[in-house]
Amino acid sequence: MKEHTFSIIKPDAMKARQAGEILSRLEKAGFEVVALRLRRLTPAEAEGFYYVHRERPFFRSLCDFMSSGPCITMVLESENAIARLREIMGATDPAKAAPGTIRGDLASSIEANCIHGSDAPETARFEIAYFFPGIELVRSER
Ligand code: ATP
Ligand code: MG
Repeated sequence: MKEHTFSIIKPDAMKARQAGEILSRLEKAGFEVVALRLRRLTPAEAEGFYYVHRERPFFRSLCDFMSSGPCITMVLESENAIARLREIMGATDPAKAAPGTIRGDLASSIEANCIHGSDAPETARFEIAYFFPGIELVRSER
């Protein structure tokens, strides 16, 4: 079944000029980009987005990093989009991510790890509404 997921090309990847490479990998993996915006998160937006991690020791540093420069927020569509994106992203820690995955090939640290992807249908719904409020996504027939 076609599904939508939410993704962010994080500030480290933008700074390293890896956005094109990441978008190309996503397209080659069969994802359709169905919404996209270049933006710089405010610290408050980063805090709201990563609210589930508020008690974690890395929370402050993570929110500072996520608001440190521009990022690309997007909605991606494919069959089993949520699980497939998590697969091609690779493990959170690039040192543990398999070669061939985005994080395994491009990321530099467990914090600066290039890309975000929703981890479940409920989080995808929350995250899409958080960054694209009111958007009506029509599943493409392409
Ligand atoms: P994301 O939610 O960004 O897709 P993830 O689901 O693989 O990543 P989470 O456990 O949700 O991993 O962590 C959210 C983000 O917080 C990570 O992507 C990373 O940027 C940062 N992070 C996670 N663990 C650590 C850590 N131990 N130290 C520093 N930053 C961390
Ligand atoms: Mg996560």
